[in-house]
Amino acid sequence: MRKGLRSTDEVNARFGLNLEPSRYEVFIPNHINELIEKEGFDGIHAKQFLPSNQELHQDGFDDPIGDQQKYVAPQLIHRYDNRALFTPTTICPVICRYCFRKNELSGKHEIFKADFEKVITYLKAHTEVNEIIFSGGDPFMLSAAKIDFYLNEFSKLEHIKFIRFHTRTPASLPNYIGNEVIEVLNKFKQVFNDINIVIHINHADEITSDVRDCIAKLGKYFPLLSQSVLLKDVNDKVEDLEKLIYKLHDLGVRPYYLHHPDQAKGAMHFYLTQDEGREIYRKLRRQVPGWLLPQYILDSPDGSGKRNL
Ligand SMILES: *Cc1c(COP(=O)(O)O)cnc(C)c1O
Ligand code: SF4
Repeated sequence: MRKGLRSTDEVNARFGLNLEPSRYEVFIPNHINELIEKEGFDGIHAKQFLPSNQELHQDGFDDPIGDQQKYVAPQLIHRYDNRALFTPTTICPVICRYCFRKNELSGKHEIFKADFEKVITYLKAHTEVNEIIFSGGDPFMLSAAKIDFYLNEFSKLEHIKFIRFHTRTPASLPNYIGNEVIEVLNKFKQVFNDINIVIHINHADEITSDVRDCIAKLGKYFPLLSQSVLLKDVNDKVEDLEKLIYKLHDLGVRPYYLHHPDQAKGAMHFYLTQDEGREIYRKLRRQVPGWLLPQYILDSPDGSGKRNL
């Protein structure tokens, strides 16, 4: 992380580019910079993580899935009765240029200010919630001690049965997940019915040997799922998705969601229409068996939640 690039200037210097300063946060860890150097600017790492002048376009929305109206306490979104999304950090292992939260995260919105008492007070009054989903930012950027603290507090609530982590760290900063974190999660595996880990990954070329090792390490102890975002010019060929799905299968990861891209301001150059997306998914349906087929979903802009496309 320390050797990562943190501004457009640093990106320009390292890669000999001449980009306009991005309006959005920039962070690319060294793991990914080395891959960009290896693959060139046409590779999927450059396309997903290098800032681009196309971010200056003003079409799209600040809050493309209507999340901000769904915060019920600081860092807690409750949209579906029995599961709540907990966003304890705004830090990510890499800043994805297509991120649907890019406008919220860059402003370090009020809703991300910690007030954990309020989270617990809310959950005590909502016994219908049986699952806490750690999101962010990226929850695996938290220290093992912090994760331990949160899981311990949630374990005091009888009605919380399931824990889930949504993370990009295994695919983007694989060496960051140390044994302490795994030990903490393992400890709580006895307490909760399940600790599921959903890995955010979009392309087979992201699976380097470090990434493979990290996923294998997690897979020894926890059920692994994957979520991908369909992105124009990154993974919008059926072969891209097919290859990713089979490679993940070999690592014991079950495809969970394929997200239609959200209309986030500054990320519209990754956008595809629903018709284009459906066409790709229809072909994918023929290429992979049902048990390896992710659900193709859209997060509605009006905040009403996920819909199958
Ligand atoms: C996506 C999402 C969830 C999780 O939904 P699943 O279908 O269980 O994966 C929960 N809360 C919010 C706010 C979400 O956006
Ligand atoms: S890791 Fe997730 S939250 Fe962070 S920048 Fe990427 S898409 Fe956004």
